[in-house]
Amino acid sequence: MNMKEWVQQVIKPAEIEKYLVNGKDFIDEKSIFGNLEKYRQPDKQQVRDILQKSLDIKLLSPEETAVLLNVEDPGLLEEMREAALQVKKKVYDNRIVFFAPLYCSNLCVNSCVYCGFRSDNCAEKRHVLTMEEVRRETEAVIDEGHKRLIAVYGEHPQSDADYIADSMATIYATKRVTPTGNGFNNIRRININAAPMSIENLRKLWRAGIGTYQVFQETYHPGRYAELHPANTIKGNFRWRLYAMHRAMDAGIDDVAIGALFGLYDWRFEVMGLVHHAHDLERQFGIGPHTISFPRMQPALGSFVSENSPYLVRDDAFRRLVTVLRLAVPYTGLIVTARERAELRREIINYGCTQTDASSKIGIGAYSEKKVQEENPDKVQFMLGDERSLDEVIRELAGDGYITSFCTAGYRCGRTGDKIMNLLEKGVEGKFCKLNAVLTFREYLNDYASAETRRIGEQLIEKELQEIEGMSFFTDKKLLPTFLNYYKRIASGERDLYM
Ligand code: SAM
Ligand code: SF4
Repeated sequence: MNMKEWVQQVIKPAEIEKYLVNGKDFIDEKSIFGNLEKYRQPDKQQVRDILQKSLDIKLLSPEETAVLLNVEDPGLLEEMREAALQVKKKVYDNRIVFFAPLYCSNLCVNSCVYCGFRSDNCAEKRHVLTMEEVRRETEAVIDEGHKRLIAVYGEHPQSDADYIADSMATIYATKRVTPTGNGFNNIRRININAAPMSIENLRKLWRAGIGTYQVFQETYHPGRYAELHPANTIKGNFRWRLYAMHRAMDAGIDDVAIGALFGLYDWRFEVMGLVHHAHDLERQFGIGPHTISFPRMQPALGSFVSENSPYLVRDDAFRRLVTVLRLAVPYTGLIVTARERAELRREIINYGCTQTDASSKIGIGAYSEKKVQEENPDKVQFMLGDERSLDEVIRELAGDGYITSFCTAGYRCGRTGDKIMNLLEKGVEGKFCKLNAVLTFREYLNDYASAETRRIGEQLIEKELQEIEGMSFFTDKKLLPTFLNYYKRIASGERDLYM
């Protein structure tokens, strides 16, 4: 099949139409603007009632979200931040999950004006990793201490669903012997960030053992979307992208991750779009998004829009949008990435983020060839704001009282989709997460931590162990002895024991 034929057969109109309700999309520009306008003057009591609903871990309606987006009063904003922190504590406690991005291919048939990988960027050096290169990259990521990664792909016949599934098999098969030689470390969960696909292709990823499937809508505003994504490209089809997660659900992938690229359009509109997206997934499948991302646009090689968009989001607005998202979709994980500067990321984690990345390399082949990112801006997608190592970020967060979790037990124990959402809403999954966070943090401290990180980490883990021993959750009398047995075995070198 030549390139033109390939491009023509990607989009399946029937796999868009089946998700429309009465022929309409779940994004209705007029109703979003209408709600933002209608609740312009929020009333204090109304805001406090909404905060109580968030604290009860209930998804907010678009109208309630619009009220929070309109709050300008500094005192009320502070109350919102405090409520966001409490919601996070209630659902996710003091855990923070780490992952690493792994860029497998920068070939792309699309031409998104903000992205360094766009096809008309002739300065970009193109490469699709061979399976041998995928293996080498994975080894380097494991050697940093990571257990989960997000593999990233441009949209191209050379990095189609079969290639993605092959690269997943290679990543899962890659192993490194632990420093004590008593077991091995590996990547235990692969999330995928790749273009929207047909149900048939998504089933291939499901069979290959995908963790979460992530697609960002970029902007939920159809008109602005059309300005940024040329109509004659696959990505030019707004609706094909809008229902990517609906198709994923139909393909059996029930951990789906949504996001918007902040800076392309008005940030309040994008937050409303994300909340409508969460509602439609709940309405049609009974499961909301597993995570929400809110990357801010970064400077990209040769991209005019990434530095000059009229919608760039300043730090203050960024803090507010994270707070509102935490309150609006209380049970969903929020991801803040190394695109953000170190100080801001640290602060944002407090407002409710649950996942982040570190020691990230966003060039093709950049983990095994460390110089790629520093010396070849023409091989990376955009510039990162925080290039610290995993060890440094873990140490900083441990000092702030956050325990790093590399837990990947959820999907391996069948705790995904609606099952995990129900457990999170009831606060049960959190208990398992706490146990698994301690087990995986023990692994990290033994295998990869620097002396200083280990010193701070040991104090934190001691505190966690005391809390666990006092937890009323252990009505099942076998759980605590099993956990303590696993902890001891991991401390003496065994790996990958989880609850
Ligand atoms: N090609 C696939 C797609 O577009 O869905 C997946 C890979 S693409 C590299 C992943 C994401 O990178 C995009 O969804 C977009 O939100 C983000 N991105 C693109 N350019 C960016 C920039 N200049 N700054 C920050 N994020 C950017
Ligand atoms: Fe290609 Fe994705 Fe970049 Fe658009 S954002 S140019 S689809 S890699």
